[in-house]
Amino acid sequence: MASQQQATLPTIALDETAVHAFAAKLRGQALRPGDDGYDAARRVWNAGIDMRPALIARCAGAADVIAAVHFAREQELLVSIRGGGHNVAGLAVCDDGLMIDLSPMKSVRIDPAARTARAEPGVLWGELDRESQAFGLATVGGVVSTTGIAGLTLGGGQGWLTGQHGLTLDNLLSADVVTADGALLHASAEEHPDLFWALRGAGANFGVVTSFEYRLHPVGPTVLGGMVVHPLARARDVLRFYREFAAGHPDALTTYAALLTTPDGIPIVALVVCHAGTIEEGERAVAPIRRFGQPVADTIGPMPYLAVQATIGAGFPPGRRNYWKSTLLREIPDEVIEALVDFVARVPSPFTAIAIADTHGAYARVAPDATAYAHRDLPFDMVILSSWTEQEATERNVAWTRGLYDAVRPFVPAGVYVNDHDRDEGQGRIRDAYGANYERLVALKTRYDPANLFRRNHNVRPTL
Ligand SMILES: Cc1cc2nc3c(=O)[nH]c(=O)nc-3n(C[C@H](O)[C@H](O)[C@H](O)COP(=O)(O)OP(=O)(O)OC[C@H]3O[C@@H](n4cnc5c(N)ncnc54)[C@H](O)[C@@H]3O)c2cc1C
Repeated sequence: MASQQQATLPTIALDETAVHAFAAKLRGQALRPGDDGYDAARRVWNAGIDMRPALIARCAGAADVIAAVHFAREQELLVSIRGGGHNVAGLAVCDDGLMIDLSPMKSVRIDPAARTARAEPGVLWGELDRESQAFGLATVGGVVSTTGIAGLTLGGGQGWLTGQHGLTLDNLLSADVVTADGALLHASAEEHPDLFWALRGAGANFGVVTSFEYRLHPVGPTVLGGMVVHPLARARDVLRFYREFAAGHPDALTTYAALLTTPDGIPIVALVVCHAGTIEEGERAVAPIRRFGQPVADTIGPMPYLAVQATIGAGFPPGRRNYWKSTLLREIPDEVIEALVDFVARVPSPFTAIAIADTHGAYARVAPDATAYAHRDLPFDMVILSSWTEQEATERNVAWTRGLYDAVRPFVPAGVYVNDHDRDEGQGRIRDAYGANYERLVALKTRYDPANLFRRNHNVRPTL
């Protein structure tokens, strides 16, 4: 047992004098293996990830981040950056390197008159929504309130307001970022516009963002939300209905189709909705969904926006093992529907879900080269969210996920959303995520991070 533990300890030898000098500089905390809080700090949402950094810098502010970036560069340490820790690939943590942990950085300031928010990178969606909703405002957030604002914003950000207001990154007004040389830059449309462009889609590659400034919009406080539920046996018909319906609905309505098993063990297909306009318009917009087929449940009704944001989260608790595959789609072809119907009939875990998010409206009206996020012409994001508890079940669940993914790949375009990538995606799939924007990203990476200090991410490699 002792030797097993030994084998998982960090193997890198740190320069003790340098570590002490670094720790003394921090307003936050430096944690080493064995320190109180080390194991809690290295834990991420995906319990399938078990990595041991040589050092964790729990940063209290931008000065700590600057010190950490200098320290990592001087000591030639691998760097990982932790925001909310939800990345399924576990990119927030690393073995043997320096984990720059931003989770203590929690401040949020709302300016209701200017309709803007400033938030630090340890903030989670539920926390930002709570502050902005105090003024009847919100920006486009993820649909699970425990997800971090940082990673989600820097890769894209789809949520219930995407039809009306685009991706989260379309609502980013500026960011403070510590670049690989330790400089703190303010990036916006006016200042360092190239860096600002790259941050919006490939952000984890370009530095450590210490502050996000968002545009806010009047939202709610009451919106129309909920879901219509059908037995899984009707999945084929429901998905065919959904692809027609999603092609024509208004910006204020954003929808998801999901194939999943209820906590009581009943396999279902659900159409989940949020309409962020008036309740009357919402009732009209969702009427076809409610009329279709013979649903076994219909929970759609007026509810607080914060309640809509909390609807899905219970299905994604921390502590389970997870593995994802995903693809963006132009439409939902029959072949994809048939593959889904075939595979969900033998899903190996009751915690697994398949979600198809519909991204349209304001999302699609942004030019594909306006930000690093390239795929404005692909309105559906299908994610196979495999989730299970026991280590022994890993192989079976991963094989099932890959089998379904392989079955749909011939019928879908190459585009993919980088925040859905799991740990085994190769360089080709990273190119797929950025499409025609990839070469510009390589040039900017070469300028801002030529030594690839920030490489524990879905890495855009600099030119050597
Ligand atoms: C349960 C769940 C629900 C989700 N729902 C949605 C959703 O509704 N919409 C959506 O678009 N996505 C969603 N996602 C995907 C989500 O966008 C990614 O998991 C994202 O990486 C989470 O960000 P984080 O800060 O929590 O992650 P982390 O794991 O902390 O970080 C993710 C990546 O970002 C980098 N990073 C983190 N902070 C910074 C920073 N300050 N500066 C530079 N780089 C940084 C990290 O290095 C890492 O590469 C969901 C994920 C989960 C697990």
